[in-house]
Amino acid sequence: MAETKVIYIAGAGRSGSTLLDAILGEIDDAFSLGEARLLWKHLLRYEKPLCSCGEAIDDCPFWKQVLLKLFNNSLPSKDKLEKLYYLQKIVENIPILNYYKRNKYLLQNKNELKKYSDFILNFYKTVAEISGCKILIDSSKLPHYLYVLKDLPIELYIIHLVRDPRGVAYSWTKEKYHPALRSYMKRYHPFTSARLWNIYNLGILNFKHKNYHLIKYEDLTNNIQASLTCLTHAFNFKPFFNFEKKIFLFKKKHLVGGNPVKLSFKKEIYIKKDIDWHKKLPLKYKFLVTLLTFPLLKKFKYPIFKHEK
Ligand SMILES: [Zn+2]
Repeated sequence: MAETKVIYIAGAGRSGSTLLDAILGEIDDAFSLGEARLLWKHLLRYEKPLCSCGEAIDDCPFWKQVLLKLFNNSLPSKDKLEKLYYLQKIVENIPILNYYKRNKYLLQNKNELKKYSDFILNFYKTVAEISGCKILIDSSKLPHYLYVLKDLPIELYIIHLVRDPRGVAYSWTKEKYHPALRSYMKRYHPFTSARLWNIYNLGILNFKHKNYHLIKYEDLTNNIQASLTCLTHAFNFKPFFNFEKKIFLFKKKHLVGGNPVKLSFKKEIYIKKDIDWHKKLPLKYKFLVTLLTFPLLKKFKYPIFKHEK
């Protein structure tokens, strides 16, 4: 297991992590998991949630094998899923911004956290074995999980994916149908999305790790070649993309959780700038989000007022 590499995409919601996950799945020997942390919640809360291959997760040829292997030749019962979800809630309550509170919390909950880390290690091991891939891409995004992953016997790589918080805010206000769940996605007021953007990005910056690399969503969509070349240098990976193609054809993949865009991955995907928010996010919300996220906007070198066309 020691040679298994896990590339964890960390970031705030609606930052383009599903797209990056699927792009990185093009690396030789890599497997795109999608937002793996949501697998259990979706199996528990929704009727037959879909994998990006179009099959229900428990009928998908890949995930069915993983589930059977993990749960002693049967699909996980509601009770087992509830227990897993309970452990995940403990992980997701780790105080990511306060060092002292975090240490106290990690100590108080060490038994539950150990159970979860044993489970997730077994999960990665099973996915690696069944996919035959040594590199796993997990776009679970929340920085909380890094406190579990850092102690596992895996080679951990962290990609911090940041998107302009005003683009993120606009995305959270839009009504989006999630075909994999057959329901509408949660929506947030720009105040809430700006608050979460601050917390998650600060949480990721607080987590110091040797294999850390920052990617801005705007750089990725403006110049995918430059962005991925930087990444392969930073992590010492072999270059993996054919940049001559303007259109990217995604192979049949098995992503779970994540953005509904994943369901179109069987088709050709155009990597294009997503700047609708420049025109469509009302001025009052642009102002509010700019004000609330000002220190980090500066840190990530986003323009405060003017945007390129
Ligand atoms: Zn599938």
